[in-house]
Amino acid sequence: MSRDQHTVSRKFISDNALKVLYRLQKGGYEAYLVGGGVRDMLLGIEPKDFDIATNATPEQIKALFRNCRLIGRRFRLAHIVFGRDIIEVATFRGHHDSANDKQKECKKTSKQSADGMLLRDNIYGSIDEDAERRDFTINALYYSVKNFNIYDFAGGVADIEQRAIRLIGDPETRYREDPVRMLRAVRFATKLDMNISSETAEPIKPLASLLNNIPPARMFEEFLKLFVSGKALANFHMLRDYELFKYLFPTVEQGLTTADADDNEQMSRFIQLAMNNTDERINTNQRVTPAFLLAAFLWYPLSRQVNQLKQTTQLTPQDAFFAALHEVMSEQQRSIAVPKRFQAPMKDIWILQDKLARREGKRAYKAFEHPKFRAGYDFLLLRGEIEGGETAELAKWWTDFQAATHEAQQMMVKSVSGARSSRRTVRKRRKPRSNANKASAPKAD
Ligand code: ATP
Ligand code: MG
Repeated sequence: MSRDQHTVSRKFISDNALKVLYRLQKGGYEAYLVGGGVRDMLLGIEPKDFDIATNATPEQIKALFRNCRLIGRRFRLAHIVFGRDIIEVATFRGHHDSANDKQKECKKTSKQSADGMLLRDNIYGSIDEDAERRDFTINALYYSVKNFNIYDFAGGVADIEQRAIRLIGDPETRYREDPVRMLRAVRFATKLDMNISSETAEPIKPLASLLNNIPPARMFEEFLKLFVSGKALANFHMLRDYELFKYLFPTVEQGLTTADADDNEQMSRFIQLAMNNTDERINTNQRVTPAFLLAAFLWYPLSRQVNQLKQTTQLTPQDAFFAALHEVMSEQQRSIAVPKRFQAPMKDIWILQDKLARREGKRAYKAFEHPKFRAGYDFLLLRGEIEGGETAELAKWWTDFQAATHEAQQMMVKSVSGARSSRRTVRKRRKPRSNANKASAPKAD
């Protein structure tokens, strides 16, 4: 498509991406904008980032740019770094079977597992080969700053018009090469409000379990793209429809399908509320942390585990909590490797649920000063909305506490201590029934 046949204009492309395109071109290489950047501009959406494809090898790219880092083993790429903005530059990929002999000899360039999964994809080729190695037709559109043409090798423009997510080539082979493409199909369908074409959708359920072979660190990256980009709820529903969700959160899936229908319902409403909240915050440019959503996903699996340990072991409530936390986290880490920097705030949010409930004496103030108080309180609010009853009352108490003057706060704390000690009195009074002789008058705290 020549410039007068499409709507992609240089003014929508970031200065940094343009700089990289022109520098490559001046260096004597071919360079194209490709992938999401071109696709989103054709759809009238602001691209999230700009990816570039070139016939320069990673080493040649590095020689051209001072601010260049080479990354990736499975898929070697160059990152051109402009402060926080990173432009990804990939060398054209070629076919594995047609790779020239010199490249074939070097085992480091290409590797495939018994399942057909590509463990390494570093065979270089021409632009049309590169197009065939991309995932979906709509992602294989190339924009040139030399003549402003768009090159469509796989029918991507027609699929954009038909709003179809379609894999290039044989779907089963392409999913086997890289099972993450199943997650990407769902993500693009919700993000772009398109439909997964039937031949691309059909192998997903039968091949879903191949996601077990994906390293948990890569799954975390995909988790972020699916759940922390404004479409969490839509992705959740579609991932469940395609039976993919359980490979991200096995304990949550289990929790959503166990025998107790009321429990399931509560958990399902809670995580959906948390996702909806996250989506709204992202879509109104508020800050979100993946830790909050992860804490929400695993809250009911954690609570169930705590209760089970309390019933079946002699552990103190605190030990039961930490034992359950350890079990739930290590089970989760097998699917998605949550980095330490997010694990710590997840634990804080959970621990705060207990701390926020005990408010006597100085405890309320201590909880209030906790560095993660805000997240813990927001979490309690969500729980209150779903659980109602005491949890909702507690959440309301904390809402009032934050708005109250210092004197009013002291009164609130006193009335909590009063209520607790009178509850204790009631409990102690009941005791004598079974042990009448030893009964002693309850002491007021
Ligand atoms: P967005 O950045 O909006 O999430 P994108 O399409 O740009 O979407 P990226 O993950 O940035 O997605 O990848 C850039 C391009 O690289 C894709 O458009 C696609 O052409 C190619 N690509 C990425 N991942 C794969 C994959 N797993 N298999 C084949 N091609 C891929
Ligand atoms: Mg991109």
